[in-house]
Amino acid sequence: MSEPLSQHYHEILKGLGEDPAREGLRDTPKRAAKAMQYLCRGYQQSLEEIVNGALFESDNDEMVIVRDIELYSLCEHHLLPFIGKAHVAYIPTGKVLGLSKVARIVDMYARRLQIQENLTKQIADAVQQVTHAAGVAVVIEAKHMCMMMRGVEKQNSVMSSSVMLGAFRDSYNTRHEFLQLIGRNS
Ligand SMILES: [Zn+2]
Repeated sequence: MSEPLSQHYHEILKGLGEDPAREGLRDTPKRAAKAMQYLCRGYQQSLEEIVNGALFESDNDEMVIVRDIELYSLCEHHLLPFIGKAHVAYIPTGKVLGLSKVARIVDMYARRLQIQENLTKQIADAVQQVTHAAGVAVVIEAKHMCMMMRGVEKQNSVMSSSVMLGAFRDSYNTRHEFLQLIGRNS
């Protein structure tokens, strides 16, 4: 690694016209670096490690749905947060994923620099890859600080993105059932 992240935050403070030596800012570079590393910890994680064998035999072939997964990510264009909820569903074909694992998969990809569309796709592909499901659906609804705090300042706009794979793409009824269950009209 080159210079530690904290050194760069020191430069950022100067670039903003601040005095990094003043009392309130003395430990800020170190704290900011630590916070940023935490917010980007998804880079240190892998799908294998997250799932860690928590796949269970099941003859359930009904839709499994995990709603309202809290989501915190950083947009790769401005390094500002986007915050919202993810809804994930899949149709098992013999294997189901441990309950907490879906949320952990969402978190692993969210804790990287992202755009919402790619994040949605990566989550769907990961669930598909791990479960070999007959279909996977992911919907993310999020508010972007880069829209709310700067530029157009559209305080209440929520961005919505979705990826439908397999049965969710092919079958109107399956897609419709999922969208109903997450409280959206299709
Ligand atoms: Zn942005």
